[in-house]
Amino acid sequence: MTSPLSAIHERIHHAAGGRPVKLLAVSKTRSAAEVAQLAAAGQRAFGENYVQEACGKIDALAELALEWHLIGQLQSNKCRQAAERFDWVESLDRAKLVEPLARYRPVQRPPLNILIQVNIDDEASKAGCLPEQVAALAAEVAAQPRLQLRGLMAIPAPLDSPRRAAAFAAMAQLFTELRRGHPNIDTLSMGMSDDFELAIAHGSTEVRLGSALFGPRG
Ligand SMILES: *Cc1c(COP(=O)(O)O)cnc(C)c1O
Repeated sequence: MTSPLSAIHERIHHAAGGRPVKLLAVSKTRSAAEVAQLAAAGQRAFGENYVQEACGKIDALAELALEWHLIGQLQSNKCRQAAERFDWVESLDRAKLVEPLARYRPVQRPPLNILIQVNIDDEASKAGCLPEQVAALAAEVAAQPRLQLRGLMAIPAPLDSPRRAAAFAAMAQLFTELRRGHPNIDTLSMGMSDDFELAIAHGSTEVRLGSALFGPRG
């Protein structure tokens, strides 16, 4: 099977007009063998929704030295494993998780990269903090030496594209505001298989693609 990776790189490059946009391969429900196959084609960064499911793949593929991002909702009883095993947590959405993530981050590893997940327009979802909570949460993360604040993440509600564009634009605005106080942040994670080009047009620096890379989920 040919990997669609290069076709995706081409579409990202085209949408971004040469601006660098990182590709996160979302490997939830995919086997370690499928991840290994994409890694062999050159993909380094993988996103997982469930800590438990991810740990099996992280162990199985340890020698590939891949970069693992937690993109699913984080429960407080999973903070230790998340801090020990992942390189990034993109789904930080409440202050209560900050101290445990920092405490459990192993000293021999670099600080854990953190994105704050924002509930930009999805009233049906409990994931993500409200836009007005971002500044306070960012300050808590920035105060922890074992954590590295990198930016924001969002999963907009499933909507028609004009409202989707508005959600992406609102995220870009929040990101710009946050960067005034935290000039080193560099990551705005938004855009999935069905809308990544629109997200890039609105300033996304990282797209999270599952089905576009691996095919439909069963
Ligand atoms: C599943 C998932 C994705 C990828 O979705 P696709 O539509 O398969 O690209 C991206 N981000 C998050 C948070 C997800 O849960």
